[in-house]
Amino acid sequence: SWQIEAEKIENLETLYTDFDSSKADVFEDFPLSTKTKAALRKHGFTKPTAIQKASILPALKGKDVLGAAKTGSGKTLAFLIPILECLYRHRWNSLDGPGALIISPTRELALQIFEVLCKVGCKHDFSAGLVIGGKDLKEEAERVCRTNVVVCTPGRLLQHLDTTSYFKLENLKILVLDEADRILDLGFSTTINAILENLPSERQTLLFSATQTKSVKNLARLSLCYPVYISVHAES
Ligand code: ADP
Ligand code: MG
Repeated sequence: SWQIEAEKIENLETLYTDFDSSKADVFEDFPLSTKTKAALRKHGFTKPTAIQKASILPALKGKDVLGAAKTGSGKTLAFLIPILECLYRHRWNSLDGPGALIISPTRELALQIFEVLCKVGCKHDFSAGLVIGGKDLKEEAERVCRTNVVVCTPGRLLQHLDTTSYFKLENLKILVLDEADRILDLGFSTTINAILENLPSERQTLLFSATQTKSVKNLARLSLCYPVYISVHAES
């Protein structure tokens, strides 16, 4: 079974090279794991939106992505699908700790992301958790060390990095900064920079934003490596 999984993953990676997302109108045709496809089907996600169509493939290939598209265009799945596939390719398991980190500006938005993650990740075996405060810090810290996909707000995550000696993100494979414009509007620039210092440089980063302001571009310069720029203006 280990060998079968390894072959499936190798096949997927071959498909990435030949795949032409402009010709694929349904998720079913995308080079995704059967687990992700089954979850998308189960929850009624059939056709990718414009931002999903444009950003999923480069993200699958491991590229850093700067994605801009208006609110409601489907940015959540545009980063959650590549996260699940990244951990799947790495054969991530519960003992591997945090492999993906999603930073969201507010607790409400973090909760919304978490709910979508529970849907699209329902066939995978990864653990997911919220780090948004409101609970005992020590208890949360112990839990987050065992969480594969962490959805957090900036302040609370930095609090853990600063106070919990055993909380490490050294194996992190993929970082998402969601609603980067709002993160910066809320004054989290210094917090984000401090978080970035705790992350391995050999990671993939996806940055999504509704607008492309000057401060978003500055953050992109700091956090992304040779990014693919994707901007969707038309209706999605
Ligand atoms: P954004 O983060 O860009 O504001 P969301 O990810 O919150 O947008 O998605 C907006 C809405 O669109 C949600 O209700 C979500 O369920 C729906 N949605 C996203 N992608 C798809 C899709 N491929 N097919 C159908 N509905 C989708
Ligand atoms: Mg969003």
